[in-house]
Amino acid sequence: MLTRTQLAELLAQEGQPAYRADQILDWIYKKRAQTWEEMSNLPPALRTALAEQYPLRPLTHTLTKGSADTTRKFLLELPDKRYIETVLIPASPALYGETSDRHTLCVSSQVGCAYGCKFCASGLDGFTRNLTAAEIVSQIILAEELSGEKVNNLVFMGMGEPLANFTNLCQALDMITSDWGLNIGARRITVSTSGLVPQIKKLSDLPQQIRLAISLHGPDDETREKIMPVNKKYPVAELFDALRIWNSKKNQKITLEYILIDGINADPHHAAILAKRAASIRAKVNLIPYNTVEGLQWVRPSDEDCLRFKSVLTKAGVSATLRLEKGHDIDAACGQLRLKKEKAEI
Ligand code: SF4
Repeated sequence: MLTRTQLAELLAQEGQPAYRADQILDWIYKKRAQTWEEMSNLPPALRTALAEQYPLRPLTHTLTKGSADTTRKFLLELPDKRYIETVLIPASPALYGETSDRHTLCVSSQVGCAYGCKFCASGLDGFTRNLTAAEIVSQIILAEELSGEKVNNLVFMGMGEPLANFTNLCQALDMITSDWGLNIGARRITVSTSGLVPQIKKLSDLPQQIRLAISLHGPDDETREKIMPVNKKYPVAELFDALRIWNSKKNQKITLEYILIDGINADPHHAAILAKRAASIRAKVNLIPYNTVEGLQWVRPSDEDCLRFKSVLTKAGVSATLRLEKGHDIDAACGQLRLKKEKAEI
């Protein structure tokens, strides 16, 4: 799967007329062709040549967990026998607590992850490789086919740090947002990052009005370093400088993701610092009570403590949601299903 520009260049090299690019894009994104062979208005020799070089369907569906009215998690096999997962979250309530008709897909951007955030299963086996743009986009196409639903909201919160796969992420965003591609509005797309400062600045230069979410989880360096090793490289002050740059270029509120962990980051004084930080960039805060991960030690705070934390934010005028968790029963924390599948096969 290629961007329109890449496809046009490729076809020009093959001596093909320019209109072939639009014919092919129509087959891929509108008619949802499963094979090059189906593209009946292309010359047979071209179909054969393209089929040899560019697999149309790089992902194979292996397993689904969940049901049509709950969060569904699809385990997908890559051509090199690695696994990724993509999670379809049903409409209402949406990720940030609003009721809506959104069909949200949580996509993966890498196999494994190098960033080792302490609450996350994706990094437990380290980083393997970046996903190609085609592998990112194919998750959406496959999820739509498997569910029969149109994905209209997208979050890059699955396995991997999307900003560490920057070039392929940008290509995928081109395929996802363009009218020749999946035509999902940029405002319906959220890229979530552990806080890679240089890439946040670069991403702010993209023309698309995508949304940005930051895995913050600690309002100061001392707290955040216990949870997010990346904070040593990009401390909180530097991160917030980058977020101010984002704010100066984009017309979207930033979301600060904050997992509440008992005894680590969920005391009222953490909430007070977080409130100041969030207010300084007019961000909204998404509070997520810690979801137990097999093999990790942390504990979820009581509901009362979570509500108290939230009220410190709202009293300071910061918009905050306490997320109604979805998918707890099917291991929706990123990476868990894939780890189980791979371990089962060893
Ligand atoms: S939260 Fe994201 S960046 Fe952190 S380890 Fe998990 S996948 Fe990687």
